[in-house]
Amino acid sequence: MPQDKNHSFDVIVVGSGASGGWACKRLAEAGLKVALLEAGRPQSDKNFTEHKPEFELKYRNKAPELIRKTRPIQIKFGVCNEYTYDWFVNDLEEPYTTPADKPFNWMGRLRMTGGRTNVWGRVSLRFSDWDFKSASLDGYGESWPLSYKDIEPYYDLVEKYVGITGSAEGLEHLPDGQFQPPVPLTCQEALFRNRVKEKLGRTIMPARSANLTKPINGRGPCHYCGPCERGCMTHSYFNSAFTTVADAVATGNCTLISNAMAYKVLMDADRNRTRGVLYVDRNTRQAREIYARVVILCAQSQESVRILLNSATPHYSNGLANSSGVLGHYLTAHVRSGGGSGEFPAFGAKPSLGGPKKPLGIYIARFRNLPNMPPYKKFLRGFGYEGESSSEFSWEAPGFGEAYKKALLEPRTRIGITGFGEVLPRWDNFVELDPYVKDVYGIPVLKIHMSDGENERAMIQDMGDSAGEMLEAAGARNIRTYAHPSAPRWALHEAGIARMGADPKNSVLNQFQQTHDVKNLFVMDASGFTSNPCQNPTLTIMALCVRSCDYFMSELKRDAI
Ligand SMILES: Cc1cc2nc3c(=O)[nH]c(=O)nc-3n(C[C@H](O)[C@H](O)[C@H](O)COP(=O)(O)OP(=O)(O)OC[C@H]3O[C@@H](n4cnc5c(N)ncnc54)[C@H](O)[C@@H]3O)c2cc1C
Ligand code: SF4
Repeated sequence: MPQDKNHSFDVIVVGSGASGGWACKRLAEAGLKVALLEAGRPQSDKNFTEHKPEFELKYRNKAPELIRKTRPIQIKFGVCNEYTYDWFVNDLEEPYTTPADKPFNWMGRLRMTGGRTNVWGRVSLRFSDWDFKSASLDGYGESWPLSYKDIEPYYDLVEKYVGITGSAEGLEHLPDGQFQPPVPLTCQEALFRNRVKEKLGRTIMPARSANLTKPINGRGPCHYCGPCERGCMTHSYFNSAFTTVADAVATGNCTLISNAMAYKVLMDADRNRTRGVLYVDRNTRQAREIYARVVILCAQSQESVRILLNSATPHYSNGLANSSGVLGHYLTAHVRSGGGSGEFPAFGAKPSLGGPKKPLGIYIARFRNLPNMPPYKKFLRGFGYEGESSSEFSWEAPGFGEAYKKALLEPRTRIGITGFGEVLPRWDNFVELDPYVKDVYGIPVLKIHMSDGENERAMIQDMGDSAGEMLEAAGARNIRTYAHPSAPRWALHEAGIARMGADPKNSVLNQFQQTHDVKNLFVMDASGFTSNPCQNPTLTIMALCVRSCDYFMSELKRDAI
């Protein structure tokens, strides 16, 4: 078996996205020698096309059927398009399976340095004790083995570096952070916010988003060109490729090994310790081994758990570090199939094809099942909404000739909102290895079992109903609402399949994302989430990762790892 020449690594980090980037930065800056295994290609500013018009593309971004030939799942979410499709996994080469009656769209599978942060929506929200302790408040599931005060300093640290625009709102259940100045609301958004507050007491705010409004660390403020998912030459949104990973590599302590598809964690035959990782070089298809004192998996929830399941040994026959038997179970991912839209006055807005494009809109804070209110009868937990206003030409105006030209210029000004709801962790939402299917590298793939329960269905209905209620309260016209049962299930915010807990009998990781079973093995992505609150997960993924790295280094110092 070929081995990597450099055997002097302290740590192997698998995956260079939101979590892996932070692990590398924190550890390399502290002087540890880090090998970063990344399945994807290197990312570069040369690949960024945020200013490239469609007419310069070969197929004018109008030939989705060509992309569908290799990425039939990835293309279901609009950020995979003619500009970016080759950043995404080839669904045919790296498939997964599902039971026939539980279709699941596993989208946002990137194969570039930076992972999903290349294309993410950037909404960055803190969790609160209302989330970490939810089980003790409403009796469902397990509480997290940590509290808000444990993670608060790490939220501060991460936010200051990442650069989050936002406004302080003083909500107990959605704590304020270290914000850069907010991007102002449009007139329609301000009207919506004011009327909803006045009539329903709910809080609407400018989206808290990882877009800079002030320069930091050589990154420029956003200039409102719009399509962040195609990259950003001024590095004005957060993408770990040009932030955390670049910082780690610049220390000289972090070696980025691209096109390295981790297959399994290698165990020491005599001791209950990992000794490295077996990976497949995606270009040569050759298997290689790399060794270090500690292994940290940051490959995104399903991918990290797939590696653990593929690392089974005679001692851990149902997956490495799985003495609890819960590895792969309690898969959660937000439901977001309810919402609505309505028309608002234009307030003099003039539609334009070339005007500035705000890359973020509004966020509506959760308003169900909160402190100091009676429990909502229809479901547990809650949801928030993301939304935005748009002012467009009236393309659908009737008539033709001069009359049509005039009508076309009458702006259609809308606000649309989409709910993001918490999904309860359930044993029967799980992943396992498919015994019959391997990817092109010969690595067994996942079979994903995921469906919604009664709680999710009731929540989706309320997302639609409450959207209508708020739009009506704001005086919107032509209101349309929707509430679809969410099958086939899809997700971008998966979490929870190697969950943290105080009790090794029903959890895989401790509060520092160290496996209970194998002390020199960590999993620092969202698979450790004990529950998956309605707030978007990535800010918490990053803050937890830095906290766990600090713990890991303190353990290393006292030789406890
Ligand atoms: C379109 C979209 C919009 C989103 N919007 C938001 C949002 O607004 N707010 C929010 O909080 N979150 C959002 N998310 C989710 C967010 O991007 C993820 O939560 C976050 O990036 C997860 O970080 P991670 O480190 O776990 O994984 P990733 O960032 O996905 O990185 C994982 C990396 O591991 C690599 N990898 C995978 N398997 C292997 C292997 N076997 N060997 C080696 N490397 C491997 C991958 O190539 C990838 O680079 C969005 C995601 C998408 C796709
Ligand atoms: S909208 Fe802002 S952050 Fe997004 S690509 Fe343009 S400049 Fe960069």
